[in-house]
Amino acid sequence: MTTALSVQCPECGGSVNVREDVLAAEIVICRHCSSELEVVATGPVVLAMAPEVEEDWGE
Ligand SMILES: [Zn+2]
Repeated sequence: MTTALSVQCPECGGSVNVREDVLAAEIVICRHCSSELEVVATGPVVLAMAPEVEEDWGE
């Protein structure tokens, strides 16, 4: 069973639901401001604004 956590969005302060087993470096989208947020830490989960640089993700 996976529990959802509610983490505060660093951009708008709204609550963002992430899985309890989310992994660091995963990207989640804030449903309030549509910001892309990167998981920078887990246990507890910490979100930060994802860098808006164009990256070549490759395959
Ligand atoms: Zn937000």
